[in-house]
Amino acid sequence: MHSQAPTDDFVRPPGTGTQQRRSRLCFELLSCAWKGHVLVGTDAASVTAEDALVVRNAGRGARAHRCLRCDGWILLPAPTEPSRATVAGRDEVVLPTRGRPLKSRVVLRLIALTRAFNVLVLLLVLGGVVAVLANQTALRETLVVSAASLQEIIGGQTVGGLQSLLSGDAGPLWLVATGVLVLLLLETVEGIGLWRATRWGQYLSTVLTTLLLVPQVLQLSSSASPGTIIGIVVNVAVVLYLLVSKRLFGLRGGLPAEKAEVEHDVSWDALARDLPPGSTATPALT
Ligand SMILES: [Zn+2]
Repeated sequence: MHSQAPTDDFVRPPGTGTQQRRSRLCFELLSCAWKGHVLVGTDAASVTAEDALVVRNAGRGARAHRCLRCDGWILLPAPTEPSRATVAGRDEVVLPTRGRPLKSRVVLRLIALTRAFNVLVLLLVLGGVVAVLANQTALRETLVVSAASLQEIIGGQTVGGLQSLLSGDAGPLWLVATGVLVLLLLETVEGIGLWRATRWGQYLSTVLTTLLLVPQVLQLSSSASPGTIIGIVVNVAVVLYLLVSKRLFGLRGGLPAEKAEVEHDVSWDALARDLPPGSTATPALT
């Protein structure tokens, strides 16, 4: 390991020499705007050439730190009271999610939010059923109308036709309450699984959404409202996205291909590959 001597000359951080265009939505930048940059070496007493991938001396007592998520180079003063001698080693750093895995996480969380909405609707419906069981008819009307209004907003028909169910057409109310409760629990677990980007959550969501598509499609024969059609289109898109993009059931190489994609985008090799044009991993500072 050889030391990189501090210099009095100001050294431009990588990526500041030429203008770079980003033509697509950059989830890394959005994530950093929300959670802050992920920097290493801000607490280190010295920085060497071996750290050049993530932090460099920039001259005049400053350091350029590379954000491990968005690749932005942030100019900061060297610490006056460093808590460690050298920059943290690669085995000490947990790399943040970036690239395709980050984009996929955002999409999964958007799907999870729609599930949270379904849970809210189901809670209102369950409240309506319980209200009927407790002979609170006026309360039932309020809750069920609220649930129907909410469903109209996103077009989801997870519990379509509940008015008829509650009027007694679908059997004993306790049976309806049990069905709604089971669906509520499943949607909750699915939402949590998707939010945390788990594999089981993606499988559960695919199966559950496919099953819920059946009553939605059947409903088309009685009422082809815009809400129903939008709901079907969204759910079909969700199922296709999960199957194809997340490579479920062995599609497109399955889990091994999924892991390879994560390794390709979230790794030290990816950081070395994604250096801005014109900068090297071991710059020769004067
Ligand atoms: Zn960043």
